[in-house]
Amino acid sequence: MWNNITGQADTITKLKSIFKTRKISHAYLFEGNDGVGKDAAAIEFSKLLNCTNLVNGDEACDKCDNCKKITSLRSEYFKMIFALPAGKNDDSDSDPIEKLASSDFEAYMEQLELKSENPYYKISLSNANNIRISSIRDLVSKIYLSAPAGITKVFVISESDKMRNEAANALLKILEEPPKNSVIILTTSKLNSLPQTIIGRCQRIHFESLTPEQISVKLKANADYPAKQIELASKISFGSYSRAAVLLEMGVDDLRNRAIEYMISLLKNDFAEVVTISRSISVKNDKEKVRNFLFFMNVWIRDLLRVRNQSAGFEAELINSDLAERLVKLNSNFPNSDIFSIILDLEEAEKLIGQNVSLALILINLSIKLKRHFN
Ligand SMILES: [Zn+2]
Repeated sequence: MWNNITGQADTITKLKSIFKTRKISHAYLFEGNDGVGKDAAAIEFSKLLNCTNLVNGDEACDKCDNCKKITSLRSEYFKMIFALPAGKNDDSDSDPIEKLASSDFEAYMEQLELKSENPYYKISLSNANNIRISSIRDLVSKIYLSAPAGITKVFVISESDKMRNEAANALLKILEEPPKNSVIILTTSKLNSLPQTIIGRCQRIHFESLTPEQISVKLKANADYPAKQIELASKISFGSYSRAAVLLEMGVDDLRNRAIEYMISLLKNDFAEVVTISRSISVKNDKEKVRNFLFFMNVWIRDLLRVRNQSAGFEAELINSDLAERLVKLNSNFPNSDIFSIILDLEEAEKLIGQNVSLALILINLSIKLKRHFN
């Protein structure tokens, strides 16, 4: 049902109209920021194309066999492709799932389960940096097989910008000679990272970022968190439901407090405390946590910039509006801090997370750089 999708009214109208006029393309490109419901809409549209018991002529029922199989992500005629770690004896011609090491396979099944329970869930497998060529070759081998009458095979390539050239070229060949009764849906939040040749062969469907209100309504419906935390997560996630949900799960208040404590400690020259915080944030090598920790600092510093500029009504624009007084004090204590260099250093540190650098070390080194820009 379309009410599985939060917001996106214009996009839903467009998808309904595509369905009703039966002008179905062989390939779509769902583009928009992370966590706004692109995968969820791809699943919904796939159900619509295959539902045997339509509601109002343009809505999937969620009850028929086809709808249920697609929702569970376990249909022979619906497949979701995403980045995978390299398998053992990986060759490019066999199903990459079968080649995964057993621990990776377990993680894959677990991620698939989480995604089927919540289509807004962001799939994340360790060491899965790109969509493998074997995943696309596997798609090629399946897309030309015939399917029962009335079935439209759908292949969703999630975060399709993670295809390298070889995979993109293999996909391009299918887009040039699309098989009948099948649809490929690519999703991406990084449109500029996709080759023009691919973009040009897909019908583009844009997804807007969500409003904080839309995010908070969905968060309240799905989980039991204090209203204040939901409000902070909705506001700080810049239109991404998935990010807001992850922040809540990580403890949005705690993470923000620790990001602020880290900065205050370095300003007080209390580097022992900086090291303690850096180590505790990096425990278990949780890259996502360190990424979000840096994200909070970034938001905090951007708020500091708003305070410094003192444009009319700046208080309302603050993301950390509940901490406005602290920001004003910080600004008056460090009036010459070089905010732009601080933001650049934060972004630089974020890039290092993806590489093989100790997470605690990234944060400790960062504090030394930041200290200089504050003075
Ligand atoms: Zn149905």
